[in-house]
Amino acid sequence: MSVESLIFEKGAPGRRAATMPAMDVPVEPLEDLIPGSLLREEPAALPEVSEIEVVRHYTHLSQRNFGVDTGFYPLGSCTMKYNPKLNEDMAALPGFAHIHPLQPVKDAQGAIQLMYELERYLAEISSMTRVTLQPSAGAHGELTGLMLIKAYHQSKGQGHRNLVLIPDNAHGTNPASATLADYKAVEVKSDDNTGGIDMEHLKTLLESHGDQVAAIMLTNPNTLGLFDANIAEIGRQIHAIGGQLYYDGANANAVLGITRPGDMGFDVVHFNLHKTCSTPHGGGGPGAGPIGVKAHLVPFLPGPLPAKNAEGYYWEDAGPQSIGKVRANLGNFGVLVRAYTYIRFNGPDGLRHVSESAILNANYLRHGLSADYEIAYPHMCQHEFVATARKQKEEHGVTATDIAKRLLDYGMYAPTVYFPLIVPEAMMIEPTETETRESLDDFIHVMKTIAEESRTNPELVKTAPHTTVIGRLDQALAARKPNLRWNPGQEVTHS
Ligand SMILES: *Cc1c(COP(=O)(O)O)cnc(C)c1O
Repeated sequence: MSVESLIFEKGAPGRRAATMPAMDVPVEPLEDLIPGSLLREEPAALPEVSEIEVVRHYTHLSQRNFGVDTGFYPLGSCTMKYNPKLNEDMAALPGFAHIHPLQPVKDAQGAIQLMYELERYLAEISSMTRVTLQPSAGAHGELTGLMLIKAYHQSKGQGHRNLVLIPDNAHGTNPASATLADYKAVEVKSDDNTGGIDMEHLKTLLESHGDQVAAIMLTNPNTLGLFDANIAEIGRQIHAIGGQLYYDGANANAVLGITRPGDMGFDVVHFNLHKTCSTPHGGGGPGAGPIGVKAHLVPFLPGPLPAKNAEGYYWEDAGPQSIGKVRANLGNFGVLVRAYTYIRFNGPDGLRHVSESAILNANYLRHGLSADYEIAYPHMCQHEFVATARKQKEEHGVTATDIAKRLLDYGMYAPTVYFPLIVPEAMMIEPTETETRESLDDFIHVMKTIAEESRTNPELVKTAPHTTVIGRLDQALAARKPNLRWNPGQEVTHS
């Protein structure tokens, strides 16, 4: 039996997964309800299946995906860590799960209290004055943060500032958000030795364009997993020319309870609650990208913000300088419940332990892989590091893609490959704190095995994966012309 028939061609005419009682209300002629031109002439060709067929179908589909609940998932920058089931239980509490965004305030006290307290926890963790929980993802937070910076500059008569400095190893969403906020993204080189900002290049840019710079967007540690020790000096120089410091907080997994963006000199920070605070986030959502700001930016925040007085919790409207709401309603509430649970469950010491373990695990892997793979910056790393397939490519023609595909055969998800862009054949590895010593050792063992295969049988690696349902896709075609819809009788083709 072919794979396609396994997946799609199920059932038999007349088979049903549910039985409906006989209709006992008068049926009007359909044409009275729906214009005839919109009615089908023939019934839709839907699969007719029994309940067990449906259950097996979806259970099998779920098992064809990789996920953190089924295996190691070292996708650098994405922080694919285990998401405690406790969070799911809390988000599913009927009072939270069924609440309506327009519920009267007196009936929504618990939910507003949760958002009020979450805001304060995030402010404390990041050393910011206030936080908006509205943005739906990291990238949405970036856009919101840049809109705040823009509104701030405009209020100071500095609306002409049109440049945002972004290092060459930044996450792709940073320049995209800057462009969307109608700024021009200007690349800052990174230092070949430290992986941090090239201070000479920064100086040159600030000397020539200082009065046009609105902000610099940084993540620290950066996407190479390296902490930029010059951050205080960078902050001083950016502030000296009148610019703002934006912190991409998607990498907060490395700094919880150890250091805080606000203490490093940042004015704005976004969190990726779906990464750092454990909401499942494969497949593009849902997420939450709250934005924290220092006092001078508070008047521009989107409203309303949760507030509290003698009568209880309420929504405080935004002030006249607010940039306005950035989404419908008040935030991705389920994600906020999970983040709140995660923070309360861990507490201050627990959060610090999260980051210390994430850093320890990353360094353990970095050390374990260094005999077989070139490490791009062989220093002590933070929560992630970049290994490369440069050696394998030069010696045996085996690329980072090949290694990533071969990992699938061993039941492990692949690291992020070819990013950051400044490292050829990059494999960006983030184990996260939730992995055991055994799973880290397994990964090292598998990577060593693949390095050995690259030497002795490179064809095996170059043609991987061999055990997955679907082999190598035409990646350009899959991205540009995704075929997401099954039609009855359609041929499903892939290599
Ligand atoms: C994931 C990530 C983002 C974007 O976050 P989304 O929630 O996917 O929009 C931004 N910066 C870094 C460093 C990231 O890892």
